Amino acid sequence: MRTPYSPATIRNILCVFPRYTPSFGTFHHSYSLLGGVRAFMPPQGLLLIAAYLPESWPVRFVDENRSPATTEDFRWADAVMVSGMHVQQRHIQDITRRAHACGKPVAIGGPSASGCPEMYPDADFVHVGEIGDATDRLIEILDGLAGRPEGLQQVFTTQDRLPLNQFPMPAYELISIPDYFLASVQFSSGCPFTCEFCDIPALYGRNPRLKNPEQVVAELDRLRIGGAQSVYFVDDNFIANPKAAADLLPHLVTWQKRHRYPLRIACEATLNIAKNEKTLELMRDAGFVTIFCGIETPEPEALHAMSKSQNLRLPILDAVETINKYGMEVVSGIIIGLDTDTPDSADRIIEFIRASQIPILTINVLYALPKTPLWDRLERAGRIRNEEGRESNVDFLLPYDTVLGMWRKCIEAAYEPRAIYGRYAYQQRHTFRNRPWYPMDPRRLAPHNVRRGIGIFARLFWRLGVRSSYRADFWRMAARTLGRGRFEEFVQSAVVSHHLIEFARQCLAGMPEPSFYAPSRTLAPVPAAEA
Ligand code: SF4
Repeated sequence: MRTPYSPATIRNILCVFPRYTPSFGTFHHSYSLLGGVRAFMPPQGLLLIAAYLPESWPVRFVDENRSPATTEDFRWADAVMVSGMHVQQRHIQDITRRAHACGKPVAIGGPSASGCPEMYPDADFVHVGEIGDATDRLIEILDGLAGRPEGLQQVFTTQDRLPLNQFPMPAYELISIPDYFLASVQFSSGCPFTCEFCDIPALYGRNPRLKNPEQVVAELDRLRIGGAQSVYFVDDNFIANPKAAADLLPHLVTWQKRHRYPLRIACEATLNIAKNEKTLELMRDAGFVTIFCGIETPEPEALHAMSKSQNLRLPILDAVETINKYGMEVVSGIIIGLDTDTPDSADRIIEFIRASQIPILTINVLYALPKTPLWDRLERAGRIRNEEGRESNVDFLLPYDTVLGMWRKCIEAAYEPRAIYGRYAYQQRHTFRNRPWYPMDPRRLAPHNVRRGIGIFARLFWRLGVRSSYRADFWRMAARTLGRGRFEEFVQSAVVSHHLIEFARQCLAGMPEPSFYAPSRTLAPVPAAEA
């Protein structure tokens, strides 16, 4: 549904989504191999707000990961709306500055402003919390506003959240879906667990709220028609409500069958999903191919210390193997710099990577997000450090240089070309072969898709097979996967490995920042506007 507020005026609204800091999880080195991809995932939250605005209000949507908002965009707007995470803080502030330079009011919302409104003293309006009564009040204020407001910043806090089953479909019509590495969809909000470092329970609650299956299926329809081939469920934990997930999955299976499996699906879920093989079976039948699990550390005492014992309901390696058995690859988050770490922890993580054969790992240095139990504990202990130039705000128990050295050692071992291609070889033998042969969606054989596919293969063969320093490993992987007719898996393994290898090399050369949850120290360059 749209806002129930009936506006008296017409307001031009410019929605701007800020740049991400480059990270292992943004896959930006892969884009040029895929041809036409410009950004990672469509921003669900801001697209949702765009869809909720009064129908009579014109909306422009700019994702600065794709191309920058121009001065003309800012001049056109009566108000600018921005949303983002802490990691995007500097970019949010930069958008605010550019909007103000054009005399336009700025409203900031989303997870960063909701968790820490005080980070945005320059914004004219701050929207705290999820979409709901605060959104209606903000719309009402914008309706009566000409130019920037006078006086103090106004903060609107949602008391009454809009139930997810009343969410409008995000305004996908405002973006070009093929510009994105992955399309995105949301099913639930909130997580029942209380991992010490995580701000999700505080921001979105512990009692998951849900869309109904019909909403999800309608969104998949829209994404399919828009050209999506892969979709990521952005829920923080797909099985936050295990029964609801189990109820949704048969709808996804039916939808995929009806359309001849146009989508490959990925999600985030806690590792205890491996205990529910019925759900894994349905996920396989629904076209799920990847699950991101926040494994964080292979050390049980560390998991207990961070209140993440849900990872220990099965031995971790057994859980990974069970998920692989259903054709799904595990992607893992790993944290370095925990209080329980010792100088040997890096070696144990590297051994875990070898044993689990997980190809993709986001290996981050611990960062304390505000309003988390971790932040509270460290602040009480005087262990929050905000000095410029530090890679994390945590005063680690191990020496700072030891922690950064452990991080470098782990990413070097994980993303050495032979190591990652070796892990993909394992996936070929133990995971991919457990996937059904999904029927060929005829849309994939449309001339523009065939041309795009030929372009992707040509770029992979030329750039990775001829020009890269790891071409021998590439050709071994190509022979193995293409020889088995696994074309999709070949492309996925090649483009993902390329990003991880290149990004790890940049990290080791000292370029990006090792704590990808921290607000970036610098402004990442905004891509040039399209001609
Ligand atoms: S399971 Fe995931 S989303 Fe839930 S509290 Fe832990 S880290 Fe956060």
